[in-house]
Amino acid sequence: MTRSSGHPPTHAVSFDLEHWHSATLLADEVDDPVDRIRESVTTVLDLLARHDVCATFFVVGEVAADYPDLIRDIADAGHEIGSHGHTHTPLFDLSPDAFERELRESSAAIERASGVEPVGFRAPNFSVTRETQWALRVLASSEYRYDSSVFPVKTPMYGVSGAPIWPYIATEADPFRDRSEGTEDGIVEVPVSVAGSRLRVPIAGGFYVRVLPTWVLKRGIENLERLGIPAVLYFHPWEFNPEIRVGSPPFHSRFVSFHGIEKTEAKLDRLLDSFEWGTVEAVATRTAERHR
Ligand SMILES: [Zn+2]
Repeated sequence: MTRSSGHPPTHAVSFDLEHWHSATLLADEVDDPVDRIRESVTTVLDLLARHDVCATFFVVGEVAADYPDLIRDIADAGHEIGSHGHTHTPLFDLSPDAFERELRESSAAIERASGVEPVGFRAPNFSVTRETQWALRVLASSEYRYDSSVFPVKTPMYGVSGAPIWPYIATEADPFRDRSEGTEDGIVEVPVSVAGSRLRVPIAGGFYVRVLPTWVLKRGIENLERLGIPAVLYFHPWEFNPEIRVGSPPFHSRFVSFHGIEKTEAKLDRLLDSFEWGTVEAVATRTAERHR
């Protein structure tokens, strides 16, 4: 097993930075999107600063190109900048070559904006699954050192049932099995969190954090701590901005996208208070160091 013993692990908190209306469920519902990206990010940066926490922002390359000074502000505040693709296209719709291009273009845009080359990747819509596992090979042969796209529970939209719920080294031959021990090659996979290894309950972020009460989330993170597994949470900055509303999407889309949005900030505030937090890169580095 890959887990450390001793004191509790430092967990990771991350934000996928995209135009809020590129969320798949809403893409067809937006007629007049008001871009509130700067104010949403400012809310998040203030919250992290209050807790003295460095987080990871997985940034869409096109957003980095449109808002270079915002990306630089995030990096200057000490946060990690990773890639969330260049155009926010899920891997299901890309060939390996097109994905390689997306990585190159997003890296270039992020480096131009922030001065730092990203080493971490999160796929739009957690689209690293058994169907698209070639993506991990492409990442391993690129400048990237880790991926944080595996959702280790199958949902209607994404997920890999049976994948490890802890960070591990993904080998080309068997990318959803932990073969970390003695592994020379492969990319570090840092899956987003589910609580409980048998009955897997997603607690990682977004919709799940907005829907579940704080005590359930805390219990889930404590459970991971007992197993020596770092929690990896994800949010979108727009989830911290109750000003964002769209016309009248169907009930299902509205519920999944916006339910509980007024409470996201208070919930993350309490979670940041209750545990130790850092970047996803720090989790990936610790994982690689343990095995190489
Ligand atoms: Zn996204």
